[in-house]
Amino acid sequence: MSACEICGKELAQNDIGAYKKFVNRGAKDSFLCRECLAEKLGIPLSQLEEKIEYFKSQGCTLFA
Ligand SMILES: [Zn+2]
Repeated sequence: MSACEICGKELAQNDIGAYKKFVNRGAKDSFLCRECLAEKLGIPLSQLEEKIEYFKSQGCTLFA
């Protein structure tokens, strides 16, 4: 099980999917949780969640 590089929180599949989608498509073993990713991207967590929902609705295979 992967953990967030910054806060050490256990990662859900959507955390990993979001990291790949927004930061590095080829990332393999270094990821951030959604909270830390939102901060890195400089957007509110709610906005990141909305983007994840959007890509899910588009059938993006990175998200569960
Ligand atoms: Zn984190």
